[in-house]
Amino acid sequence: MSKQRLVHPAFAQQVIERHGFSLKKQLGQNFLIDANILGKIIDAAAVSSEEGVLEIGPGIGTLTQELAEHAGQVVAIEKDDRLISVLFDTLQTYSNVHVEHGDVLDVDLKQIFATWFQGRKVSVVANLPYYITTPIVMRLLEERLPLHSIVVMVQKEVAERMAAKPGGKDYGALSIAVQYYTRPAIVCKVPPSAFMPPPNVESTVIQLQVLSKPSVHLKDEALFFQVVKASFAQRRKTLVNNLLHTPFLTLTKEQIQDILAAVHIDLRQRGETLSLQDFANLSNTIYNYKQHL
Ligand code: SAM
Repeated sequence: MSKQRLVHPAFAQQVIERHGFSLKKQLGQNFLIDANILGKIIDAAAVSSEEGVLEIGPGIGTLTQELAEHAGQVVAIEKDDRLISVLFDTLQTYSNVHVEHGDVLDVDLKQIFATWFQGRKVSVVANLPYYITTPIVMRLLEERLPLHSIVVMVQKEVAERMAAKPGGKDYGALSIAVQYYTRPAIVCKVPPSAFMPPPNVESTVIQLQVLSKPSVHLKDEALFFQVVKASFAQRRKTLVNNLLHTPFLTLTKEQIQDILAAVHIDLRQRGETLSLQDFANLSNTIYNYKQHL
């Protein structure tokens, strides 16, 4: 099976039929059949023969083949045991691919890195199963894996939330978390017709360039994320009201008003108007304030 073939719908269909495989919607099994989009993913990932790639959800191996042509080592984690024998077939000519059977949310990623990627620069490149996009991306970022970049196909709305700037309806806790760890950039939009079967939603390829250190300085990272979560708890409420109804803070209205004044945030502002730096200033000031209570 040559590398061009699987992205061609007729050949993907052939592989599926040869293995008697039936697609599982609940595992997000929409396989890429658009060579142009595949090329854009590979271009955005820009991996060299020295580098390692972690792929999540290889499916029948369409993207995996192309990654194996460019990278030094590819590790592909697939949950569906029925696909393991399919991948054994479609990837048999590639000695630089390791298929790991498991759930990406459970496997020991640090162990995989230590075993397969020692000394290599590593990127994640994947057409993600949409039902667990956020848990996957947050796991990759929070575990502080030594990643260079993450190039992933996600649902269009999720990509927009990841890349959103303050002030709009898409800006929220996900934007802040992603932009704390990475610099996001939209690569391209992808119509449903690029997949077999076509999903009910539009898709977007997004690149997350992992920062060597987080974009803002924090005194207490857990507190920062609690403050962010609380600030968006009810989007139509002001920051003061959201923070006041947050059990973990136990601050009075007057104390919250003092803190907001100290960081030059207007009392009528809503969470969605605050930049990442504003949230950092706010949570660092709450931290100092609590130290002196
Ligand atoms: N990479 C292939 C492509 O581009 O055609 C398939 C992408 S398909 C959108 C998502 C893949 O993720 C499927 O192969 C599915 O079985 C797999 N998957 C779903 N949940 C998973 C999980 N928790 N861990 C690992 N793989 C998973």
